[in-house]
Formats: sequence, structure tokens, C-alpha cells
Amino acid sequence: FPQTINPFSSSNKENKAKVKAEHEDHHQACQFSVIEDPLTGETYEKGRLLGKGGFALVYEVFSTGSKSQFADKVIKKSVILKKKTTLEKVRREIAIHQQMNHVNVVQFHKHFEDLHHIHIVMEYCAKKSLLHVMKYQKRFTEAATRGYLNQICLGVQYIHSVGILHRDLKLGNMFLTDDDIVKIGDFGLATHVDDVTSSTLCGTPNYIAPEVLLKKDHGVEADIWAMGCMTYAMLVGKPPFETSSLDSTYNKIATNDFTLPEFMSDSARSFICQLLDPEPKRRGNLNPLPNGSNLLNHTFLTTDLSRKRDERRLPFKPLVQPNGRV
Ligand code: ADP
Repeated sequence: FPQTINPFSSSNKENKAKVKAEHEDHHQACQFSVIEDPLTGETYEKGRLLGKGGFALVYEVFSTGSKSQFADKVIKKSVILKKKTTLEKVRREIAIHQQMNHVNVVQFHKHFEDLHHIHIVMEYCAKKSLLHVMKYQKRFTEAATRGYLNQICLGVQYIHSVGILHRDLKLGNMFLTDDDIVKIGDFGLATHVDDVTSSTLCGTPNYIAPEVLLKKDHGVEADIWAMGCMTYAMLVGKPPFETSSLDSTYNKIATNDFTLPEFMSDSARSFICQLLDPEPKRRGNLNPLPNGSNLLNHTFLTTDLSRKRDERRLPFKPLVQPNGRV
């Protein structure tokens, strides 16, 4: 199994404290109110801090001329210059993200550098991510999950169609606009399909597929696996292979050991089992072929039946009957 940071070890606590201190330091260094692209002279007014990533702070910014709102991912040069692989990772993220153009992918606007920072200016997603939305709800209904998943499938299908693997599809990277359009973001682990070998993955995806875990060659199927994990997490409220230790989670993934709760509809069960198939070749696919095997044609995504079933299974006795009688 890959050597990853164990989130339960004390050294990881120290690591977390270090990252927090770096963020504080970075935030202090970002106390400027206007950001300027030194090459074009274009300026942005800085707004709220939207969130923190591995080595970036993300701010709301407004273009001074048009007043358009964007999210600016600000990466401190001194941090990424400490490690050669980190600089490569940022370069690759920019190169890949700037090629993307799809309604279900966070739109890349521009990138530029000033003396101390690299800026990635992109579409602003007011509702942050599906992970943030889930914090306020235990789990999503099948109808809501279907609505999000149809969009995720279209976004992933597009990303694959231009020869890119995302490799870190997770709820925290599914951004949401004010009108609930899902936008896939964070291309920090993405790569070209042709560049993949069993050892090219630098970083650990959240929802790691068995073939990646076992260091076999991997392809688009690893993204499909992650979509299966996201579907499960949305419907159940926790990831399919979650345990209290990383090793036992990896064992569960390697042995395909997950359980589907009783409340899940047959179509949702069938959908998840197609995505979490341990054999990549058998896993559901998003190939735009009219042979009916495409996941977008699965009944879970096309039917309205599960929504009605959800409504019939209310966990309480309604006070007002559907026909209005009390
Ligand atoms: P990293 O790749 O370093 O993990 P992310 O790209 O995930 O960083 O961004 C970190 C946080 O910043 C996100 O969790 C979110 O809260 C916020 N954020 C990132 N991109 C956007 C965006 N386009 N719109 C709004 N908030 C964003």
C-alpha cells in the first residue's frame, strides 16, 4: 500500500499545526487590497477569504474594470519553491485547467505571477462545494443525488473526452454555483491519459481505486470508481470504505468490502455496484456510444421512480395528507 500520511498519527497532528501556521503566515502576507497582473496592468480588488487548500489560500476578487466576481487561488512562491515536485504540480494544474471549457467544470479565467505569489483566477462558486452543503444535511435524497450526479457525469465525460484524468474526484472538489450548477474543480492531481504509469501519481486521491492502490496501471476507470464513492457518500452520509485506520480502509478497498444500507433503492444499488466494480474493465463507463451501457443511461440517473419512493418512505407520519385532509 502507498506510504501516505496517516491522519491518526501524532506526527500528522504536528503536520496539521505546521500547515495552519503556514496558512496564518500566508494570510498575513496577503494583506493587500488590490492585486495587479504586472504583465497586463489588469487589477482586482480583494474580497473575503473563501477557503484554504494544501498550499493555497482562495480569495473572492472583483475585476476593477468589469466588477466581475472571481475566485483567486493564491499560492505563495516561497512555499512551492521548497520542493521541486510541488512546483511541477502547480505548473501541471495550470496547464490542464486552462484547457477546460465546459459548463460543469470550474472555468479557468487567467493566471499570473507577482513578486511573491502565483494567482489562478477562476469562476466564483458561491455555494463552495458539495462537501460544505453536506455538513448541513446528514445525507442527500436520491432525487437530489441524481440531480448532482447527472451534472458530475457530464463534467467527467468532458474531462475524459479531452484526454485528461482528474484523479481526485471527491465531494470537496465538486463546487456549486448559486443556482446549484455543479462545477468540477481542483486539477492538482490531474494528468494526461497518455502520461499515466503505475507510479506517476504524486499525492493520494481521497477515493483511491483498487488498481491505483495496488500500483497497477490505471486510467479513466479510477475516476469512475471515485464517482461511485461520491454517490455512496451522498446517499449514505459517509464514504463506503471508511474505518478508523488507513490500513483497514485500504484492506476494505482491496477486498471490495462495502455494504449498502436497506433504505437504498434497487436502482441506486445497481448504479453504485457498477461503479465500485473491483475490475476496471467491467466498471460502468461514460463513453459517448449509443450502446446503452453508458452510465448516463442508467435508470438511477434517468428515472424519477426513486424520488417517488423517497417520498413514500417519510420517517414520520405526515400531519397533512397529500389530498389536503387532516
Ligand atoms: P487545494 O487544491 O489546495 O486543496 P482548493 O482548490 O480545493 O485548494 O480550494 C480550497 C478551498 O477554497 C475550497 O475548499 C473552497 O472552500 C475554496 N474555493 C476554491 N475554489 C473556489 C471557487 N472557484 N469558488 C469558491 N470557493 C472556492
